[in-house]
Amino acid sequence: MSARRTSDEGVARLARARALGERFLYRIDEVAEETVSSTSTAPDETGFDASGWDALRQEVLDCTKCELHKSRTQGVFGSGTPDTGFMIVGEAPGYYEDQQGEAFVGKAGQLLTKILAAIGFGRDEVFITNILKSRPPKNADPSPDQIAACEPYLERQIEIIDPAVILALGRHAARTLLGVDGSMASLRGRVFEYRGVPLVATYHPAALLRNPNLKRPTWEDVQLARKVYDEELQRRASQ
Ligand code: SF4
Repeated sequence: MSARRTSDEGVARLARARALGERFLYRIDEVAEETVSSTSTAPDETGFDASGWDALRQEVLDCTKCELHKSRTQGVFGSGTPDTGFMIVGEAPGYYEDQQGEAFVGKAGQLLTKILAAIGFGRDEVFITNILKSRPPKNADPSPDQIAACEPYLERQIEIIDPAVILALGRHAARTLLGVDGSMASLRGRVFEYRGVPLVATYHPAALLRNPNLKRPTWEDVQLARKVYDEELQRRASQ
């Protein structure tokens, strides 16, 4: 636990997590037709150092470290609050993300919002980002060179956030963070560790839109991530 995470903060987070848990009643299929009410809250007072975070955001927006800066509309640093224990990492911005400068908008983003609601989170209660901060043309797979250039930004985001759990969406995110080459079927359903942070991998929401059969395993995985999050908050609160 970093120095800025005090025991009191851990207790406050645990209370908040329990309140969120009361809404942990839905299934993805059940919320799909519902209007998901916002559960957003302002960042709490945890002494979070915003200056380092803002400087990192500006670095990403100004970045020219790989060729993707030439074709992007803008860098996409991430969406949500950095003062959270629940961090989501996807692959790369797509068309709408590139246009709007926000992570996970468009149809896949809307589905992610419903999935988050199903485990008790509003979008503004988590932080959502990608391995790459700039859109690859035609949504091409991230190249090893692009990942190598961009990954330090993600590492610093994780260092600052100090999340209780990371949910990796899609095989590129999972493979990059875990440094392995397995299929998603072989990586999902388990708890890994990334630099001391518990990590759960599951399918990308875009894959669910193409193949509804992936909904059930994804639902199992996000429930697992929520469980790991709750347990990690409890562990931190007890320290
Ligand atoms: S993808 Fe990452 S490394 Fe490449 S230009 Fe964008 S922010 Fe920089």
